[in-house]
Amino acid sequence: MEDINQDNFLRPRFLAEFQGQEALKANLEVFIEAAKRRKEALDHLFISGPPGLGKTTLAGIVASELGVNFVLTSAPALEKPKDLAGLLTSLQEGSLFFIDEIHRLRPAIEEMLYIAMEDFEMDLIVGQGVGARSVRVPLPRFTLVGATTKPGSVSAPLHTRFGITIRINPYTQLELQDIIDRSARLLNIAIDPAAASLLAQSSRGTPRVANRLLKRVRDFAQVHHEATINLPISELALSRLQVDHLGLEDQDRTILRTLIEVYKGGPVGLQTLAIAVGESAESLEDFYEPYLVQQGLIMRTRQGRLATDLAYQHLNIPRPNAPRD
Ligand code: ADP
Repeated sequence: MEDINQDNFLRPRFLAEFQGQEALKANLEVFIEAAKRRKEALDHLFISGPPGLGKTTLAGIVASELGVNFVLTSAPALEKPKDLAGLLTSLQEGSLFFIDEIHRLRPAIEEMLYIAMEDFEMDLIVGQGVGARSVRVPLPRFTLVGATTKPGSVSAPLHTRFGITIRINPYTQLELQDIIDRSARLLNIAIDPAAASLLAQSSRGTPRVANRLLKRVRDFAQVHHEATINLPISELALSRLQVDHLGLEDQDRTILRTLIEVYKGGPVGLQTLAIAVGESAESLEDFYEPYLVQQGLIMRTRQGRLATDLAYQHLNIPRPNAPRD
């Protein structure tokens, strides 16, 4: 049996189980159906969106719906051309080849991928030393699915080689509630609507966070002998996990507090703030900041990061001066 602590246990396998994102699903359904009718590989598919929103899940679903095999890798794992060559030669006709973090491909690998995507061929080096020569070998017609959290960092020549582009946006409160209800059913635990609503509200628009919170709240319910996840047990669990009603965790609040208390609300540069809170600039920018910006707690300006009035209110810190113009 599959381990229910694994991400995979709750991962939807078919489009009908994938909650929310209705417009995107409706389009994908058409592209999948058309490819099936033509008995052709689906066009290359580019999926962007923040972490935990379902990019890998969606790629797996497309493979199941098409009835083709799914080969999964990530750009940092492709160090040498032979790493990519090995995977390309393992593909079958129509296979779905998923590359996560596609913005991190090395230039030599990216060049190789252009030929594979466009001509379904690859250059192989045969022989050694002065006798070495390159031969073109055909590849089966496959579908490349490239996923990224940073679409702006993908080179234009790579981007234009994808025929279908989709962007997954954060989920609404109701969509997250549906995801929580479905996951609770799979985990075999009952949850009150009020509790599901609170968890949805604290999930940062992200299914992966929603599932994680649900599993932790389930632990509290079980230890407290509650047959159903109700509002009081959810509130208790979230407060013990230090997740507040906006879904901020300890480190998010540390970032805001540092910005306010050490740098007087800013502006402060990304690097300086990152060092002060013990994070790399990359993780601050990619992981923590997007949600803080989206919630209107931080502003990114050319001079640096600024705490908003809302950030002061959220942390219950009085703002010393009226904001400057
Ligand atoms: P990403 O690849 O974007 O980082 P994943 O595809 O790994 O995200 O999704 C994280 C988890 O969230 C999955 O294991 C899955 O259980 C859940 N999930 C994501 N999107 C959905 C969705 N639309 N409906 C239900 N569950 C979802």
